[in-house]
Amino acid sequence: MTSLLQILSCADDYDPNSLPVGRATELILDLLHPVNGHERVFVRQALDRVLAEDVISPIDVPSHDNSAMDGWALRFRDLAATGETRLRNIGTAFAGRAFDGKVGAGETVRIMTGAILPQDVDCVVIQEVARVAGDMVIIPPGQRSEQNTRRAGEDLKVGRPAIAAGKKLRPAEIGIIASLGIAELSVRRRVRVALFSTGDELCSIGTPLAPGAVYDSNRYTLWGMLTRLGCEVIDMGVVRDDPAALEAAFREAAGCADAIITSGGVSVGEADFIKQLMAQLGEVAFWKIAMKPGRPMAFGRIGKPDGTDGPGAWLFGLPGNPVAVMVTFYQFVRPAILKLAGVDPVMPFPTFPARCVEAMKKGRGRTEFQRGILFQENGEWCVRPTGAQGSGVLRSMSEADCFIVLEPDREKVGAGDTVGVQLMNGLV
Ligand code: AMP
Ligand code: MG
Repeated sequence: MTSLLQILSCADDYDPNSLPVGRATELILDLLHPVNGHERVFVRQALDRVLAEDVISPIDVPSHDNSAMDGWALRFRDLAATGETRLRNIGTAFAGRAFDGKVGAGETVRIMTGAILPQDVDCVVIQEVARVAGDMVIIPPGQRSEQNTRRAGEDLKVGRPAIAAGKKLRPAEIGIIASLGIAELSVRRRVRVALFSTGDELCSIGTPLAPGAVYDSNRYTLWGMLTRLGCEVIDMGVVRDDPAALEAAFREAAGCADAIITSGGVSVGEADFIKQLMAQLGEVAFWKIAMKPGRPMAFGRIGKPDGTDGPGAWLFGLPGNPVAVMVTFYQFVRPAILKLAGVDPVMPFPTFPARCVEAMKKGRGRTEFQRGILFQENGEWCVRPTGAQGSGVLRSMSEADCFIVLEPDREKVGAGDTVGVQLMNGLV
């Protein structure tokens, strides 16, 4: 069997010491496959879940030809070629209560939105333009055949896929499923993700902070990000920088999860045994991504605890700095989780242009993800960076509503320059 490291190193332009952000994402997405397993859920529980099988429309939607407006139902051929037409009002069609009769020559029926079109009717004239005089209705010229009508099946056709498998179900899809009368459907099981933080300096919340210690916040941001992505999160706490404790944690995680996320322990100055251990328990590539924040990252696979050649769990060894954790998560882990969850296709998160109102420094040769705040000025979208941009300053993430994404070959940003922004809304 070809090893993962062989597959990675065979890729053209593969340089683990300077991997562009987009290339790293591609490599990850190429290697991952959706997890197996479906479950049946009721329609409301399907919100934000990934559809496991195509939803085939059991009916036409709408199921009958009907009116799109309140107005007058008539036969287009009865209208005069020029000038007004006088038609006789012979009844009313309500939504849910059809007009039983036939509309003949020179006749019209008052019709409500959603009411079935009476036989032969092919035109609805909105009530606002018609004049009523006793039982006669005067229709002005300029009408079109088929106007203000909705034909059976024009939204969804019986027997055809209404929603394709792989769609993450949003309120619109929940509505479509309900419009088909479907109460229960098959969604993919949630992706199981085990996570732990590494570091002797880490202190759990609820305990006093010793000198030199920091509270472990990464586990909480990771929990939040994973929960929002619909994962089942297995929180394994803080693991000391101790080989035996780390090995036990990796083995336990690989036995119960589809993916393992760790923070800390992958940077240059770190105790080397964390990296050695990752490499020893599985196949792990240590990447220096050409980005800021978040340069070091480990990606690979940790084997099954019993040593069988099973799929094991994917490993994302994220850096320790709190902002780097979030940035690398959104760039690499998020698309990976979507792929594992069965989302198809996994689309790159879009970047939009905005005018940056402050000058910014920028290092050449890497993608930088600054945290920004969007606002409108003279109808134009503008962005300014949040204050301190250090990779430990989590406040910069909290104040921001977008990432300012600066491409590798850009050297600096002048006030007024156009930059790319990624909205956090929808991403986070
Ligand atoms: P490391 O990547 O382990 O060298 O950590 C880099 C920086 O991030 C250090 O200042 C750590 O104290 C900090 N850090 C590491 N893990 C966490 C965590 N779980 N919560 C908050 N800060 C952390
Ligand atoms: Mg550390």
